Amino acid sequence: MDYRPARRQSAARELKAASLDALLVTNPTNVRYLSGFSGEAAYLALTAKKAVLVTDARFSDQAAEECRDIEVVIRPHTQTLDQATAAVLGKLKAKTVGLEGSTTLATAESLSGALPAATFTAVHGVVETLRAVKDAGELAHIRHAVAVAERAFRAFVPHARAADSEKDLHDAMEGMLRRAGAVRGSFDPITAVGERAARPHAVPDPGVRLDAAGLLLIDWGADCGYKSDLTRTVKTPFGPARKPKGGADFDHIYRLVCAAQDAAAAAVRAGVAAKDVDAAARRVFAAEKLDDRFTHGLGHGIGLDIHELPRVRADSTCVLEVGHVITLEPALYLPGWGGIRIEDDYLVTETGCERLSTLPRDPELLL
Ligand code: ZN
Ligand code: ZN
Repeated sequence: MDYRPARRQSAARELKAASLDALLVTNPTNVRYLSGFSGEAAYLALTAKKAVLVTDARFSDQAAEECRDIEVVIRPHTQTLDQATAAVLGKLKAKTVGLEGSTTLATAESLSGALPAATFTAVHGVVETLRAVKDAGELAHIRHAVAVAERAFRAFVPHARAADSEKDLHDAMEGMLRRAGAVRGSFDPITAVGERAARPHAVPDPGVRLDAAGLLLIDWGADCGYKSDLTRTVKTPFGPARKPKGGADFDHIYRLVCAAQDAAAAAVRAGVAAKDVDAAARRVFAAEKLDDRFTHGLGHGIGLDIHELPRVRADSTCVLEVGHVITLEPALYLPGWGGIRIEDDYLVTETGCERLSTLPRDPELLL
């Protein structure tokens, strides 16, 4: 089933509600979502009745294949994308045009210069809000991306060696993801050993070996068109286990992070404010006076992008809906010792949520 015509209709309804004749879609992910075009350097002009993709001759065959039901304009090499887009908007007789937030100031200026009679307005989040609710086809893609990521992790585990650096582990996971069926990793995998796991987004260091400590945090995902995003923190047999200064041991902190994830998952269902889900996780840490060691938001939507709506964090204004797919990734970071983060992917349902990932939450996965 092709969901793209329905998506364009939904976007067109939003246009009408905002009293706009046209929306210029410049975010490449949004162009792809609404048109099917997966190449680069393209804009999509959308009105209530029509959608026109503007791109160049490098992509003419690809655009013809991927966008069979909409008009495709191939600009000549003597014309810029902005000039060709202005000509399309002129032909569509659009007097009020919404420009997506991703539109550069240079593009906005050249469009308004070419079409002085038209009014251009910044439009934020229209397509992103539609993208947050996944249809059945998208859900199947995300389930596949989760399964591929889990397959990659299982292949990765027996290959880890004491002498591997964080960079080696990163490269191995990227390779395993591709071999398991991903086009690439959803992002550069994070492979943080020991106290470096206290940095939520540690950059893999070629000088830090797995045997530097008995703890490895690994955050990875499979990009199969749609993306998955998982994190496990594990004990390893390669380096010394250390206790946090004056604090509890690995197992206690691990159990707390699991409890926070469970509390958050129990709070998830359609109609709930996303910030309340974040608060449910934070309460578990507050009870142990560790809430200041959880220094980022609880989670985010996943889909064509690795971070998309809804935001699941304290300052979020999002309300969860059936069909949202989110991560829940509570963590505790103890500088000088390390960090424990656990991340799984969940589908929001009417009555709760379904955990899409099946990898056990077991700190001894690598032992
Ligand atoms: Zn992640
Ligand atoms: Zn994440």
